[in-house]
Amino acid sequence: MLDIISKDVYSLEEENFLNNKIKIKALKEYGYADQIMHSLKAMVPWEREFLQAVNELLNSIAPVLKQDPLYENFQVLERLVIPERIISFRVVWTDDQNKIRVNNGYRVQFNSAIGPYKGGTRFHASVNLSSLKFLGFEQIFKNALTGLPMGGGKGGSDFSVTGKSRGEIMRFCHSYMTELFRYIGPDIDVPAGDIGVGAQEIGFLFGAYKRLSGRWNCSLTGKGLSWGGSQLRPEATGYGIVYFAENVLQTKNENLEGKKVAVSGFGNVAWGVVKKATELGARVVTLSGPDGFIHDPDGVSGEKIDFMKTMRFSGIDEVKQYSDQFGVEFIPNKRPWIIPCDIAFPCAIQNELDLDDAKALIRNGCKFVIEGANMPTTLDAVHLFHDAGIIFVPGKASNAGGVGASGLEIVQNKNGFSWDAQKVDDQLHRIMSDIHEICITAAEKYGRPDNYVVGANIGGFLKVAEAMIDHGAV
Ligand code: NDP
Repeated sequence: MLDIISKDVYSLEEENFLNNKIKIKALKEYGYADQIMHSLKAMVPWEREFLQAVNELLNSIAPVLKQDPLYENFQVLERLVIPERIISFRVVWTDDQNKIRVNNGYRVQFNSAIGPYKGGTRFHASVNLSSLKFLGFEQIFKNALTGLPMGGGKGGSDFSVTGKSRGEIMRFCHSYMTELFRYIGPDIDVPAGDIGVGAQEIGFLFGAYKRLSGRWNCSLTGKGLSWGGSQLRPEATGYGIVYFAENVLQTKNENLEGKKVAVSGFGNVAWGVVKKATELGARVVTLSGPDGFIHDPDGVSGEKIDFMKTMRFSGIDEVKQYSDQFGVEFIPNKRPWIIPCDIAFPCAIQNELDLDDAKALIRNGCKFVIEGANMPTTLDAVHLFHDAGIIFVPGKASNAGGVGASGLEIVQNKNGFSWDAQKVDDQLHRIMSDIHEICITAAEKYGRPDNYVVGANIGGFLKVAEAMIDHGAV
């Protein structure tokens, strides 16, 4: 077992942990998972988001652990909850006034049981080790679900791209890579984009990697089309989420045609979701930013979707610009979940949909909540959805299309060819259908039909755990 460092901290944490005593109680039925959770809380009580992600996984896989002592005998959980390696470094750069600026840079290489570490890079003021550990942990199981040989990792910096010039972003990216380049490579760790890291930043990071390492290889994904990128990578996360939604709706003999949809965020993932959902006949009526949300009853379509891209590329951090442009209602400092909808796609950031938001969605007749972002829904909101019979899909299943397409970019680079958009789209469809199948099969096998949280966690865990056991004590 992991050592319990401080019993006092553990007790306090148990009292308050996410105000979620029901879950703690549920875990107590399963000794092994319970001990691991308590040990971890004692070890890193301040890493709230990471603890939240581990707690969710352990709750889901507890029946598997109970049924088979193999995992405890091989101490799989003790190994799973500690990253294989964390790289932490200083990023020094100069701003446009020639002033020296300093940020923190990280890469969490969490688990390489089934392949080289793979996961995004986030540049956002909120980035710290807890958020990157939670994202890296989620990435392990998400990557396993894709069926591709990719381990889990995540990196980033507390640098915010908002308000920075192109030159400042370039100098920051070059400095960030000056330290990171020695720890990545196509068979070691392959970073990609995430919040604040799009095509422009991947370009700068790749340029620095190439110069420093003297190598041109697939050490980053999300590259530009003319230098090794894959068709459809920018769209892949959002499209994949909508393909997964189609699979879910089909199980209820429904489809997207005519559905009213609420989306949060206005970044890369939200853009892909809006584009594909609209193409398939849904009407997206909300977008959001940190400043509030817009309500567009006619639907976000045509030039309005293109405007989302314009906003992102101009470094605008206010969704209000959309309401100024198209004359629709802007509701400041509120989230979009108060607007009646059939399906909600939270696509912005972690913990952006809480218990009150969940109550509002249920009250207004929402039937499906499909996560686009990583862990946008708080645990108590997830429980409420389950209790109310709402179909809820966790991001680690529904947004796996992004990393799936990155995996396809690696395959193309390694083999020296370039698939057309149709071929990538076909593969993306297949990956998302396969993940859906894994989820519903695992959920049914363990007596929790329609529970995609249980299905995704068990499906991902079994694959990673099997590899860890096969590799012995490493
Ligand atoms: P982007 O940076 O492109 O977009 C994030 C969007 O969310 C921005 O519009 C941002 O606004 C907005 N936002 C930030 N904070 C809030 C808030 N508190 N309330 C409302 N909106 C907010 O990132 P992505 O679209 O790439 O990523 C979104 C989510 O999807 C993240 O959780 C990410 O980890 C996840 N994801 C992304 C993948 C990808 O391929 N890009 C793959 C899988 C998951 P602002 O810029 O003003 O902060």
